[in-house]
Amino acid sequence: METIKNLFRIGNGPSSSHTIAPGVAAAMVKQKNPNAAHFNVHLYGSLASTGIGHMTDKSIEKSLKPIQPKIFWHPDENLPEHPNGMRFEVLDDQNNILDEWIGYSIGGGAIREHGVIQKEPCVYEHGNFSKIMQTCASQGISLWEYVEIRESSTIWDFLDTVSETMFTAINRGLEAEGVLPGGLGVARKANVIWRKSYLTGENFLQRGKLPAYALAVAEENAAGNRIVTAPTCGAGGVLPAVLRYVSEQIPTTEIQILRAIATAGLIGNLIKHNASISGAEVGCQGEIGTACAMAAGAAVQLLGGSIRQIEYAAEMGLEHHLGLTCDPIGGLVQIPCIERNAFAANRALDCARYAIFSDGSHLVSFDEVVQVMKQTGHDLPSLYRETSCGGLAKMVKQGKY
Ligand code: SF4
Repeated sequence: METIKNLFRIGNGPSSSHTIAPGVAAAMVKQKNPNAAHFNVHLYGSLASTGIGHMTDKSIEKSLKPIQPKIFWHPDENLPEHPNGMRFEVLDDQNNILDEWIGYSIGGGAIREHGVIQKEPCVYEHGNFSKIMQTCASQGISLWEYVEIRESSTIWDFLDTVSETMFTAINRGLEAEGVLPGGLGVARKANVIWRKSYLTGENFLQRGKLPAYALAVAEENAAGNRIVTAPTCGAGGVLPAVLRYVSEQIPTTEIQILRAIATAGLIGNLIKHNASISGAEVGCQGEIGTACAMAAGAAVQLLGGSIRQIEYAAEMGLEHHLGLTCDPIGGLVQIPCIERNAFAANRALDCARYAIFSDGSHLVSFDEVVQVMKQTGHDLPSLYRETSCGGLAKMVKQGKY
């Protein structure tokens, strides 16, 4: 299993797969071809279906500046290896093709070249939670110590930047007001919910503050601003919200937050390694479900729970999102995405509390539910895998526009 550094990418929203990754691919093609006069960019499958709403074209154009590329959308065609396909043609000033790059956006901001079996360096020799738990038990270490041993102590500087970016996004999002770009007329809500949370008594504090923090990041993402993929842009509000809320409730140091992010990263990495975190591949269960599992595990750690309870909370966080479809209205990462972050943050904390109140024993293991999520995702019709052809995207288009 690769480093958790590849799970937490810092970039501009609204989508790790549809914005960050195509931008990275375009920059790579440009760097490889300094003498290019023109670029033709072909986008396939899900990248083409929801690319305009996800600002895929803007991200590619930004990376290829000052050359203005020609972009061709092929929503009804798929390249063979992944639903998010891209083909870059590099042209000279006579329109002769100098070079071509075909590749895929495989989720969470990562790209893979067509036909290339990419071997990221193996940082974690154990590829599932049960082996990791056994290793930790035999050495008497916690999950964050396991991460530190595998990644080296340099991981803390990296996670410090991740944490700082997450918390800055919350603060920006709590202050921002107004309508989000894209034309749906979706107004930001984080600011008002956060303000109203001060009107509630202790019992309802969580119901105001926690969703406000998640909405703050999700709205910043929808506005195309800087956030961290956790594990994706679209689901990037869940973990920061839970970290901030829990750290406000009980005394928590900065290093304890970094250790919780390390554990969350391990959980997300296991799902990425054994299934997928790509909405185009497995639906929203792979994005919001994974984010919820990561945040639930992180919360258990911050609340003093055991590794067994972390595993249980992460399992529940994913299990109770099984089958969740990806059907964003207008291809924008707004409806249902923004509210999903708020609800998943609440659920993550519920899962954490439930696991802590239990002794950690349960029937379905985290490793099993990851396999089920993968299979469920492959059984979902493509309508519900980030194509905006089914579900809410279809209904609202028909009913309101
Ligand atoms: S519905 Fe879920 S998977 Fe789809 S774009 Fe929104 S957050 Fe991502």
